[in-house]
Amino acid sequence: MKELTVVLTIHKDDTIYIETVVQWVVKNGYDMKLSPTVGLAKARRECIDQAGTEYTLVLDFDTRLPDGYVENAIKLLKRYLEVGAVALDYEVPHTQGHLAFGTSIWRTDLLKKIYDWDEASGKCECLWMWERLQRTKFLLSTLPMQAVHLKGKVGQNSQSPCNR
Ligand SMILES: [Zn+2]
Repeated sequence: MKELTVVLTIHKDDTIYIETVVQWVVKNGYDMKLSPTVGLAKARRECIDQAGTEYTLVLDFDTRLPDGYVENAIKLLKRYLEVGAVALDYEVPHTQGHLAFGTSIWRTDLLKKIYDWDEASGKCECLWMWERLQRTKFLLSTLPMQAVHLKGKVGQNSQSPCNR
């Protein structure tokens, strides 16, 4: 049985990466939901609602995860039942100083229950969601590795609220 759904936000200029992710998803026997470009919060909400696996990876299209992250995050979630989500910050120079929602792996049931980011609030999705998580009995965890963020190289995400 599949245990992970990858919720990937897509961007029309990044089809090669999307193909790479799709191949990786198929190879590992994960499930996948591609979010339509109808506004990030709405797109994420729709894909999260469709996830039918125990764990869900929320992946931004301009993020590259380090090798072993997904496998080790799932191991951690299986072993420590008090952990609700695992996430990484980005490597320098794109470090945010906080863990990124766009790298996060969740217990799907929990994410479905609490995902309610208000894009219009101007608050970054990460801190919004870590605050939401804090109001549950679950903890946020991380691993000793960083993701790569291609901020400013692709897409229009250079004015992220994460760095205001
Ligand atoms: Zn953020």
